[in-house]
Amino acid sequence: MNFKEILEYQQYDGQIRKQIKNKINSESYARAVKRKTECEAVAKKLEAVDKEAGSNISEIKEINKSVLLCANKIKEFSEEFSSASDERKAQLFGELMQMKAKLEKAERKLEERIKKIKMLGDEGIKIAEQKDKLINEYSKAKKDYDNYCAAEINPKIDQLTADKKKMEGSIDPSLLEMYNQRVKEKAKFPYFHALSKDKPSCICGMALSQTAITEISEKGYCQCENDGCHRILFFLES
Ligand SMILES: [Zn+2]
Repeated sequence: MNFKEILEYQQYDGQIRKQIKNKINSESYARAVKRKTECEAVAKKLEAVDKEAGSNISEIKEINKSVLLCANKIKEFSEEFSSASDERKAQLFGELMQMKAKLEKAERKLEERIKKIKMLGDEGIKIAEQKDKLINEYSKAKKDYDNYCAAEINPKIDQLTADKKKMEGSIDPSLLEMYNQRVKEKAKFPYFHALSKDKPSCICGMALSQTAITEISEKGYCQCENDGCHRILFFLES
C-alpha cells in the first residue's frame, strides 16, 4: 500500500486546521466574543431593572387604591359630622384621625415608590446606553473579524482546499475512503501516522504490540490499539 499521497493529502487538512485556529486566535475574534458576553450581561441587568420597575408600578397601583378609599371615607365622615350627635361626633373624630394617619402613611409610601421608579428609570437609561455602546463595539469587532478572515485566512483556505482536491485522483481509493470515513466520524487528527522504525509507537503515545506489528506485516497497516485513538499506523517504506 502506498501511503505517501494520503499523507500529503492529510497535510493539506493540517494546514487548513491551522488557518481555522488562526481565525479563533485572532484579536478581533477574542474581542467579539468578549463584547458579546458583556452585551448579554448588560441585557440581563436591564431586564432585572425593568422587572423591579414593573413590580413598583403594581405596588403604586395598589397604594393608589387605598389612598382613594381613605379619601372617600374621610369625605363620608366629614359629611356626617355636622349633623351628628355629640357622642357620634366624638366617635367620628376618632375614626377620622385614624383614617388621616392611614392616608398619610399611604402617601409617604407612594412618594417612596415614585422616587424608586425614577431612580430605576435613570439606571435603566444608563444601562441601555451602555448596552448600545457594547452592541456597537461588538459589531465593529465582528466586522474586523470578517474583514480579517476575508483578507487573510479565507483565500489561504480556498487555495489549500483546491490543491487538496487536485490530489484526490492520485490517492489509493481504499485509503481515500478510510480517510473520508474518519472525517465523517470526526476522528482524532491526523488520521494516518507513519511509524518510525526505531521506536514504533502511535502519536497518542501507545506503543505497538507484537500483534499490531504482525498485522502491519500482513496487511500493510493497523489501527492504534488505544480505544480513544484508532489512528491508522504503518511504516512508510514497506
Ligand atoms: Zn494512537
